Amino acid sequence: MPVAPLADDKGRCVSYLRLSVTDHCNLRCLYCDGRMSQRLSHFDVLRYEELLDLMGLASDLGIRKVRLTGGEPFARRDFMEFIERARARFPALALRLTTNGTLLAPFAARLAAAGVDRVNISLDTLSRATFARVTGQDLYDEVRRGIAACLEAGLGVKINAVALRGVNDQELGGFLDLARALPVDVRFIEYMPMGGAAWSPEQVWSAADILAEAGRLATLTPLPRDDADAGPAQMYAIDGGRGRFGLITPLSNHFCASCNRLRITCGGVLRTCLFSDRTYRLRPALRHPKLGPGQVARIMRLALRKKPVGAELLAARRAGQGVSLTSMSSIGG
Ligand code: SAM
Repeated sequence: MPVAPLADDKGRCVSYLRLSVTDHCNLRCLYCDGRMSQRLSHFDVLRYEELLDLMGLASDLGIRKVRLTGGEPFARRDFMEFIERARARFPALALRLTTNGTLLAPFAARLAAAGVDRVNISLDTLSRATFARVTGQDLYDEVRRGIAACLEAGLGVKINAVALRGVNDQELGGFLDLARALPVDVRFIEYMPMGGAAWSPEQVWSAADILAEAGRLATLTPLPRDDADAGPAQMYAIDGGRGRFGLITPLSNHFCASCNRLRITCGGVLRTCLFSDRTYRLRPALRHPKLGPGQVARIMRLALRKKPVGAELLAARRAGQGVSLTSMSSIGG
């Protein structure tokens, strides 16, 4: 039975879960890099059945949208079958996914048939050589095939690029052309100081700088922020374009006040804020023969009440006090 979304102690309603299905990724992106973090053992990764149980619990707690993530979700065996099971079991949940797109093309039609209406595809560059340099793999063409297959299958496509000074800051024109030519949302996201990668302020290409440059290359019209699906992105229509352009600004204009999300890793660790290493282990309760789902729900309720304000943690980082030490590949972005 649908319930009202959970609210935290600051009145924020939580209705969106990012659920990671694996900590394995077939790419080694410079800014994300799971190399630093130890991968979980097979036993510690939640089985698909357990992930479905968590989705059921989350939906009972008021979650309306689940985004499946990783690592790279398609790198886990039988991921497509898992999506189909999830769709059959939770027809009312909005089911989305985020992928690096390298393994996506063969599954586009099945995703559409399973009612996954939109896919986020991470792509930081339109150059094969830069792609290989950033990700450590020569798989640019596979990603482009994945994008084409999704469009062909009628899926909505969002392309997310991490804005990286000295890496893709000469490519704005190319990305704007892509959003002119294809019905896709191209969104640049500010590079965040997460664990596992050597972040420095010099590598941050700020949203203000991107917008100023994009405004010289295209006529952009800001769109109202009432599109719930835009999430934290500020979107712009592009004059004469089939797609749209957007900016996600976790650093320069944080969206903590309206944050509606929580994250669960593939090992069953709950995070209520991307920038906080305060985590809650759900797996022991989930697997305990007596505690089970009731206890998991209790932990989730308690944790959500104390959802932090990430911007405060980021500010502390600038003062040298540290922020999350966990890499994005194990959190799920
Ligand atoms: N493999 C999937 C993918 O590529 O979308 C899902 C996992 S990946 C960790 C999720 C997103 O996090 C990707 O769009 C990636 O670019 C983004 N990301 C990783 N590290 C980041 C960082 N330090 N700052 C901003 N975005 C980051």
